Amino acid sequence: MTSNYRFIKAAQLISHADGLIIAAGAGMGVDSGLPDFRGNAGFWRHYPALKKTGIGFQDIASPEHFWDAPHLAWGFYGHRLNLYRQTPPHRGFQLLHEIAAKLPHNAFVYTSNVDGHFQRAGFDENQVHECHGSINHLQCIDACEQQIWSAQLFTPIVDEESCLLTNRPPACPVCGRVARPNVLMFNDVGWVSGRSDRQREQLDAWLQKVSRPVVIELGAGTAIPTVRIFAERQHRPLIRINTRDAHLTPSTHHVSLQMSAREALNAIHLALVEQDFF
Ligand SMILES: [Zn+2]
Repeated sequence: MTSNYRFIKAAQLISHADGLIIAAGAGMGVDSGLPDFRGNAGFWRHYPALKKTGIGFQDIASPEHFWDAPHLAWGFYGHRLNLYRQTPPHRGFQLLHEIAAKLPHNAFVYTSNVDGHFQRAGFDENQVHECHGSINHLQCIDACEQQIWSAQLFTPIVDEESCLLTNRPPACPVCGRVARPNVLMFNDVGWVSGRSDRQREQLDAWLQKVSRPVVIELGAGTAIPTVRIFAERQHRPLIRINTRDAHLTPSTHHVSLQMSAREALNAIHLALVEQDFF
């Protein structure tokens, strides 16, 4: 199959669908310029201060340091929060939004990304399920009353040399303990999942309404395959876009595109324009 034919095929699957299931992993954000923390070498390139102390991604991305070294834990998460705030979502998000607007049931997003970029790109809060939570929301480290609140009022100031937060970490309004991002971390028993659970209920209700959805999977990794598994379990036509591993069981209902999300979405959008979809 030439790649041109694949774009035409992907566009046909979309134009015959009544709703778009968007399943997005870390690779979706890479085209905006966000790191995907693949392996410790890649991770340490972004956080050289943590390389000096030998702290790897799984270690810093765990709740433990919020208890024993909150300025270090917030050095990492505060830097990420600032980065996600400062980085605009790439054009592919906008193209997905435009495509979804043409379908009777629009779209629902299932993403492991915690950056909130789908909402930034115009997707409604009620059409996104953030399965690993959101860095734009906070919770108590002790989950004292299961509360979740917006991180909007908190502006982290991070010394990048040392990866340490230099201003005061946010606090739980109930008990006064340190607050942490409402993100599912490694070895995390204290994550408050209420917001994500409600989103999942909305997703399940939406899935009941659509009768012939198409799944478009973008940059979903194989190391933590949550998003890939979700996409495959829908048992619907699937467009898999991945720069590294776009493998799919051959089927006339599936399209595999081994390329970046933005590149693939641009090409699919063009094919849809040529098919008079818009
Ligand atoms: Zn508390």
